[in-house]
Amino acid sequence: MKVCKFGGTSVASAEQIKKVAAIVASDPSRKVVVVSAPGKRFSEDEKVTDLLILLAKAALSGNDTEKELGDVVNRYEQITSGLGLSNTIIDVIFTDLRERLSADSSDSSLFMDSIKAAGEDNNAKLIAEYFTSIGMPAKYISPNDAGLIVNDRPERVRALTKGYEKLAELRNESEIIVFPGFFGYTEDGTLRTFNRGGSDITGSIVAAAVGAELYENFTDVDSVFAANPTIVDEPMAISELTYREMRELAYAGFSVFHDEALMPAFLKSVPVCVKNTNNPDAPGTLIVKERDHSKQPIIGIAADSGFSTLFVYKYLMNQEVGFGRRLLEILEDEGIPFEHTPSGIDNLSVIIRSEFLNTEKKERIIQRVQDELNVDDVHLRDTDYSMIVLVGEGMRHTTGLAARAASAISRTGANIEMINQGSSEVSLVFGVDKKDENKILRSLYEEFFSKVVI
Ligand code: ASP
Repeated sequence: MKVCKFGGTSVASAEQIKKVAAIVASDPSRKVVVVSAPGKRFSEDEKVTDLLILLAKAALSGNDTEKELGDVVNRYEQITSGLGLSNTIIDVIFTDLRERLSADSSDSSLFMDSIKAAGEDNNAKLIAEYFTSIGMPAKYISPNDAGLIVNDRPERVRALTKGYEKLAELRNESEIIVFPGFFGYTEDGTLRTFNRGGSDITGSIVAAAVGAELYENFTDVDSVFAANPTIVDEPMAISELTYREMRELAYAGFSVFHDEALMPAFLKSVPVCVKNTNNPDAPGTLIVKERDHSKQPIIGIAADSGFSTLFVYKYLMNQEVGFGRRLLEILEDEGIPFEHTPSGIDNLSVIIRSEFLNTEKKERIIQRVQDELNVDDVHLRDTDYSMIVLVGEGMRHTTGLAARAASAISRTGANIEMINQGSSEVSLVFGVDKKDENKILRSLYEEFFSKVVI
């Protein structure tokens, strides 16, 4: 049994949904189909999720919502008419949206989640209807009825494995199950959405719970590439990589697969295959537990910007018991997670994502570090800081890779501000100025990939 998930561009129009139907019909083991909300049909197009966010905002600010509601319904109308479905499904969608809009909005975050989730929820109903209409008996199932239970932490929505037993019953259904991505329900029945792009997470949870032989993640590219194709010319396609490698690449900006989506599949050893809805015969990229890394120790190079670094210097820091804990506690009090903590004998840098900072937080952090930790210097670098991440399981077994990477960077004339290699040795991270990011990526790609055949 396979679980397949189709992303926003794969279900953005009637034409795309017909491709989805053909893919599902071509393999009877594709029993569970997880869908996103309709995404972009062309680059300037709007995703239905973004239209729904505008709708929720208009409602929350007490404005008239007819225009926003019309924009959403219009997208579904175009799809239904292109698929030759009757208007009944549009009535269902319209009523559903009206009900969500008239619900209690005193908790704006819950209200927003409920409206956002309407994108996938209604698309799943529509697609189930279409499958059935063309002779592929299918059934929409709500995450609430299926048992997709999530925790009660709105800032970090995660699925709870206690729902898995119920979810596993999906195996017994005779029809094709069409399951909406992106949201689940807390134990008291409150709807919560995952982070943006979270339908990948739903697919992974369902695949893990039903013990799928494969989780297929259909998107709009043939495979995961070794580097960003908009920066490196025709980068190599990766045919196989490990969960840990994918996690590192997804973390550092490879948007093909959501970084939080790997864990459920990984824990139940369900292999994941990234495939292209527009070219389903291409083999795609397989994500597995282990791979033979002898020919290709480095599998990919990623870059991500939007980081800040809190630099702290204190003479004899290394002798001060509890210094690190107290520093990190200040960030914890501000609700800020940290990414890396490279350190020297008397200095420590904490690298954080800039999105977690604002002017007041910055001022409070600096002040508290000065007052409570009595440091000799503290400052924040909060602009134009990028992380370049070199990823590969083979790093552990190959000498000289760091030296090659450093010289590839030095050939660009760029300065390395920070180097970090975790003890797992799956990735090597370089902190650099944002302006040098692209030329470094190209130089590293040239160094590690130009002569390789995966
Ligand atoms: N529709 C949601 C988003 O645009 C979730 C998803 O497509 O995975 O983020």
